[in-house]
Amino acid sequence: MARPAETMKSVVCYGPGDYRMEEIAVPHVEANEVLVKVLAVGICAGDAKCFAGAPHFWGDADRPAYVQPPITPGHEFVGQVVQLGDGASEKYGGLQIGDHVISEQIVPCRACRFCLRGGYHMCVPHDIYGYHQKTPGAMATYMKYPANSINHKVPKEIPTWHAAFIEPLSCSIHAVELANIQFKDVVVVAGCGPLGLGMVAAAREKSPAKLIALDMFDWKLDIAKMCGADIVMNPSKCDVVSEIRKLTDNYGCDVYIEASGHPSAVVQGLHMIAKLGTFVEYSLFGKETTADWTIISDMKELTIRGGHLSPNCYPKAISMIANNKLPMEKIITHKLSLDDVHKGLELVNKSSESIKVVLLP
Ligand SMILES: [Zn+2]
Ligand SMILES: [Zn+2]
Repeated sequence: MARPAETMKSVVCYGPGDYRMEEIAVPHVEANEVLVKVLAVGICAGDAKCFAGAPHFWGDADRPAYVQPPITPGHEFVGQVVQLGDGASEKYGGLQIGDHVISEQIVPCRACRFCLRGGYHMCVPHDIYGYHQKTPGAMATYMKYPANSINHKVPKEIPTWHAAFIEPLSCSIHAVELANIQFKDVVVVAGCGPLGLGMVAAAREKSPAKLIALDMFDWKLDIAKMCGADIVMNPSKCDVVSEIRKLTDNYGCDVYIEASGHPSAVVQGLHMIAKLGTFVEYSLFGKETTADWTIISDMKELTIRGGHLSPNCYPKAISMIANNKLPMEKIITHKLSLDDVHKGLELVNKSSESIKVVLLP
């Protein structure tokens, strides 16, 4: 495949609400780097929150800004190799021109304390696609996977718009691994957006005694059933805490995975979970949540685990999609062109009409 022209089309984030379509330089590839043509890129709830100006991304009195504009957004992508720097093919498992390949969202330094101790997803001086200057994202015709990137080949049989779901699914898998699910467990997943549906599918792989999904939209609960939920409940239509108690001889659920990002879902989980249960939190909150910590300690002796990104989870995500473990045509609700990025961000922000919105550059 020939080296592309010198410039390409890209969405560029300048600030909250200020995303422009521009013609920018195609990245230059050096040793151990890969240039790919972007085949598909999903819009994350994080992208929509960044566009909306959330303090998590733009900073406030308590924290510095996370996003470094001007920057090409997009971290849920798959690309086709068009150029390999010296040594890149050997470094990334014999990667060839034309291969489909995905790069993990974080590009770790491989030298800080967390990288050296095996927690590369918590790397301190890390780069992250779509937010940091050194790693522009995928909402463009081409993108570069730099020297420290972690890359995985993707079978060409997987449709590109399904492959864009590998990144969020790998996050769901990490959350499920943190939950340490046992066969006897009653597991509740709160929230059936892209992450929650992936968690239902991944929890199904662990074969718990009962798998229950919660969401405010019945049509999303129907998809949760296709992902493997035994029972679904809509908290706007029933008292889910008492329903879960009824199903468990009044003990409560053994595992509660919170994926909605709503403060009320945290409190709901603390009331619904059994003594000695495991509570996994994996979401971005728009505001702080408060809870009675006595429930966590004296009343129930809970294990509380927070989750971030998806260390060592991409291979499992690729195999789950390749083996049709998820109803991908239901999960990818919208396929849009790059020019429709604003429409896509709006759909994701509303969340009532979409699950995963994918752009096809
Ligand atoms: Zn994401
Ligand atoms: Zn590091």
